Amino acid sequence: MTETVRETLEVDVLFVGAGPANLAGAYRLGRLVAEHNQRGESPKLEPMIAMIEKSAEVGQHVLSGAVLDPRALDELIPDFRAGDGPFHQLVTGDTVLLLTRRGKLKLPIVPPPLQNHGKYVVSLGDVVRWLAPQVSDMGVQIFPGFPGVAMLYDGTRVVGVRTGDKGIDSKGQRKGNFEPGIDLRAKVTVVGEGARGSLCKELFARLGLHSSVQPQLYAIGVKELWEVPAGRIRAGSVVHTLGYPLKSEEFGGAFLYAMSETQLSLGLVIGLDYKDPFLDPQERLQQLKGHPFFKTILAGGKLLHYGAATLPEGGYYSLPKLWADGVLVVGDSAAFLNGMRLKGIHLGMKSGMLAAETIYEALCKRDFSAATLAGYERRFQQSWAKQELWKARNFHQAFAGGLYAGLVHAGLQLLTGGRGLRDPWRVPAGHEHMRTVQEYYGRPYARAAGGAGAAPDKLKCDGTLAFDKLTDVYHSDTSHEENQPCHLVVRDLDLCHDRCTREYGNPCQHFCPASVYEWLPQEGGGQTFQINFSNCVHCKTCDIMDPYQIIDWTTPEGGGGPRYVHM
Ligand code: SF4
Repeated sequence: MTETVRETLEVDVLFVGAGPANLAGAYRLGRLVAEHNQRGESPKLEPMIAMIEKSAEVGQHVLSGAVLDPRALDELIPDFRAGDGPFHQLVTGDTVLLLTRRGKLKLPIVPPPLQNHGKYVVSLGDVVRWLAPQVSDMGVQIFPGFPGVAMLYDGTRVVGVRTGDKGIDSKGQRKGNFEPGIDLRAKVTVVGEGARGSLCKELFARLGLHSSVQPQLYAIGVKELWEVPAGRIRAGSVVHTLGYPLKSEEFGGAFLYAMSETQLSLGLVIGLDYKDPFLDPQERLQQLKGHPFFKTILAGGKLLHYGAATLPEGGYYSLPKLWADGVLVVGDSAAFLNGMRLKGIHLGMKSGMLAAETIYEALCKRDFSAATLAGYERRFQQSWAKQELWKARNFHQAFAGGLYAGLVHAGLQLLTGGRGLRDPWRVPAGHEHMRTVQEYYGRPYARAAGGAGAAPDKLKCDGTLAFDKLTDVYHSDTSHEENQPCHLVVRDLDLCHDRCTREYGNPCQHFCPASVYEWLPQEGGGQTFQINFSNCVHCKTCDIMDPYQIIDWTTPEGGGGPRYVHM
């Protein structure tokens, strides 16, 4: 193969990922530099700042509930309410319900972490679409359609990121439109690629950034956006539910946020530390909509959009080291999320802003050494973000014994500032909780549908309220160039066909919310494994929950993936 000649672009600061953390960071840095120069301080600062993003347009891969706590935004853009931002809907009321299969019990008091007075029901995608042009106006060059595929190192110092090649076919050969990726070299690289990003996976392992902390815990959120007839629910209503369709052994709950009187965000969050190898998050969301409470609200409505994402829920004790030589980690990449409040946007933004303040100091001192970048960790430790995360430091872990024990522990944590009965509360990584079919169902796995040990029959979907996965994926507007290498790298297919089938019944076909992994029966017995990578909504669940940890989610060719709207 011809040797690839790559262009190298030198910048001072490189932000990887155009999510809320990095956009807030770039905005804060731009503002600090502008104010510094307006004050006439020396040296005059003229940094080259770049941001790369894997989606074709900023915001297309961004998905969240979301109820926004404006604390960080108030610091970043104090007059944001006066502008034309997507902050139209204040929360008008909070409700927490405990659901049984047919019934519901309203909690008489909304627990303080779920009280949302003064917060906004938003589409996070719309928020980043609003913020990105303001960041560009500050001189930050944003390059959508450029995924980072590898960190660049000089020894143990991070010196930038390589972007992905374009125009490689499914066999790894160059096509006529081949364009090599670029080496973006930077004095400091800020990685904010979301939960379980492929760059951070390699970076953390190589530099040992999470070697001395607790394993990260994740959850998957599957979400639908609905249009419903007026009069069903008050605009700004925020409803959280516990119980059905989750079993009491499973961590999670549902949310319904009324973005207006006729547009609803509806989703289910499930801890990726469940035991049942046949658990299917997308199917559970369809079951949820069959509950009388949701059914009444959604009847006559229309599904507008679908998506899925993972959330880092391990909390304070799972935070990796936030910096290394040449690099800072922000947002969901570093697990800035408060599981107790089901909120992370404000924490992610704050992390980006603290990173920006550290970089500003480095620019002023002309010193990008590790010692200067370590100031990011110190700033975090002195911030309200640390205080907030500290109060929720054992939250998700406390549900290891199931919902009811978890609620008691969470109550005790609230009373003791996060301490509870165990501090720190250690639990194994999420995938280690999954049981084999034999262990969970008491029978060996059987491939034939309907037999003992087979996966339960899938829910029958009516196409108006409940949808099969492919219909939902259609509503995520996902597409990838078909003639490219598969970006889901399964390192040992023999293990999938043999041991995983016997032990777990191939759980990838259930936990993937986009029907990427398909096991098709063959004539004469046996089954074939097919990876429909073009369906992938980039949620990373497979990378996290595969019981053998042999799936690597990698970045596909730039621009591929979901095209979320108002998500
Ligand atoms: Fe998510 Fe993996 Fe399925 Fe893609 S293949 S949608 S990352 S679970």
